[in-house]
Amino acid sequence: MEFTAPLARQRAFFQTGATRPAAFRRAQLEKLQAALERHEPALLAALQADLGRSPFQGYATELGVVHTELRHALKNLDGWLHPAGRRTPWFIAPARGWVQAEPYGVALIFGPWNYPVQLLLTPLVSAIAAGNAAVVKPSELAPRTAEAVAALVRETFAPEFISVVTGGADVAVALLAERWDKIFFTGSTRVGRVVATAAAKHLTPVTLELGGKCPAVVCGDADLKLAAKRIAWGKFLNAGQTCVAPDFVLVQRGGRGPFLAALKAAVVEFYGADPRQSADYGRIGSAGHFARLGDFLRAGNIFHGGAHDAATRFLTPTILTDVPLDAPAMQEEIFGPILPVLEFETLDEALALLRNYPTPLAFYGFTNDRTTEARLLAEVRSGGACINDVVSHMIGTGLPFGGLGASGLGAYHGRAGFEAFSHPRAVVRRATWLDLPFRYPPARISLAGLKRAMRVLLRG
Ligand code: NAD
Repeated sequence: MEFTAPLARQRAFFQTGATRPAAFRRAQLEKLQAALERHEPALLAALQADLGRSPFQGYATELGVVHTELRHALKNLDGWLHPAGRRTPWFIAPARGWVQAEPYGVALIFGPWNYPVQLLLTPLVSAIAAGNAAVVKPSELAPRTAEAVAALVRETFAPEFISVVTGGADVAVALLAERWDKIFFTGSTRVGRVVATAAAKHLTPVTLELGGKCPAVVCGDADLKLAAKRIAWGKFLNAGQTCVAPDFVLVQRGGRGPFLAALKAAVVEFYGADPRQSADYGRIGSAGHFARLGDFLRAGNIFHGGAHDAATRFLTPTILTDVPLDAPAMQEEIFGPILPVLEFETLDEALALLRNYPTPLAFYGFTNDRTTEARLLAEVRSGGACINDVVSHMIGTGLPFGGLGASGLGAYHGRAGFEAFSHPRAVVRRATWLDLPFRYPPARISLAGLKRAMRVLLRG
């Protein structure tokens, strides 16, 4: 694998300045929009083959998300590109200061397998809007989708602008040996560390969108039935293979019985008595992940579900109770349709338990009490959060989406995505008809005078 020469061609293309004009960026975004429509049948079929995802789910969770991001970027591009004026110090007057978004150059974008279209192409929209060239690397664990996305990219873009590289970890390692101007990685915390280490060698800026165990805390005062319904939706979407899916639930004593009953009722309402027959229920992404999840099934008592079939990588929505805290299911990210439900007595106890975990990508608190809400938000750290819901903080373009600590670094979606692929360049333009003498040696005032002058004239 040789990436040095193609990367040099892409960097040379970037250096021509071709990617900078707004008209170029807009034309490329529109090309991607049209390609996404043209390739829609192939992409939806690939998602069905790789992940058992129905066309409805495939559009709702993948293609529709990229379209939303594209529309938003096209609508807001001019505003994002507009230099933002800033104040400049008096002693350089007259002068103008502004911040302008500078593209990094050639970006490398890695996607995971669980939402293999959305999580690769949404960052690409931001990279293009910000004026970068890019290489995208889909995950090898959703192979048909990787091929379908690769076909779309090759047909749509000139290779010196946007190119695609398919393959596994060996390919990823070879790519990481090169010097990139920006790396955007979505995947596991383990590989995120590998990426950050490789990027550090070249001081390449990174955005790391990683995983973790996203907890849900259901307090006694919450609407238990609604909490159960919303948690069941977010957990069993894409058969639990969602980075922001609630990983486990802590429910306050007293609420446990009604919560579990409502959770089970919601699962049956969504997917029927036999989720195997449901068009809305997905399959596990790979045999390796299926085997890993099988071990988690033995972690506690099965309150609901447990049925599985290795041949079709089917694992029914499963609710576990009485899972010990030292079981792997309570230590590792589950990333599948298994939901441990644990009990807590006081909020202090729940908060103490959550402090033992690395910072997750999302936190979900269910309460109708504003004091409890404030305490939960203050004491449980996470990349993003919802009160009385799950997953919805990452839907759409309005809020930045990203992790903190072990769940990642940086954010994207909408303006945050544009900023993730831009350097905020500070520029000052001075007039030449006036040149105040104060800053030039020799010093004309005493130290005390300088302090007074700085207090008065550089108020901030
Ligand atoms: P992964 O880390 O195994 O793979 C992601 C990418 O890294 C793939 O392109 C893969 O080829 C590459 N890769 C694998 N091994 C590598 C190595 N040794 N060196 C360099 N690159 C390597 O992740 P995954 O299994 O595809 O995805 C699941 C994980 O991603 C979960 O932890 C999940 O929470 C997380 N995730 C996070 C987000 C988010 O937005 N924060 C979204 C989806 C998934």
